[in-house]
Amino acid sequence: MKEIRCRGCGCHLDGGDVHYKARVDLCAAYDRMEITREDLDRDPSEEIRQLLMKMADEDSQELSDEVFMRLAFDLCKQCKERFAKQLERGEFFSGEDEV
Ligand SMILES: [Zn+2]
Repeated sequence: MKEIRCRGCGCHLDGGDVHYKARVDLCAAYDRMEITREDLDRDPSEEIRQLLMKMADEDSQELSDEVFMRLAFDLCKQCKERFAKQLERGEFFSGEDEV
């Protein structure tokens, strides 16, 4: 059986205690597109050609991650509460960038 560990503190989660699965979906959001008269009059062939060239250069996984990414991890009860509090308080969004 695969060992399950808490992503937050690393403790074992396979002892029968309640634990949590966190799932985060990051989906690209687009504003509603408005098509103008200029768009209809424009020849998009050069734009499409450049986009196809760009896509050929990029890794397909990288491209799909740009549009949709799902992160999933296990958390113990304490880390789940800490994670939820940090999200609720917006601490994640004001934290230091670790990248
Ligand atoms: Zn934990």
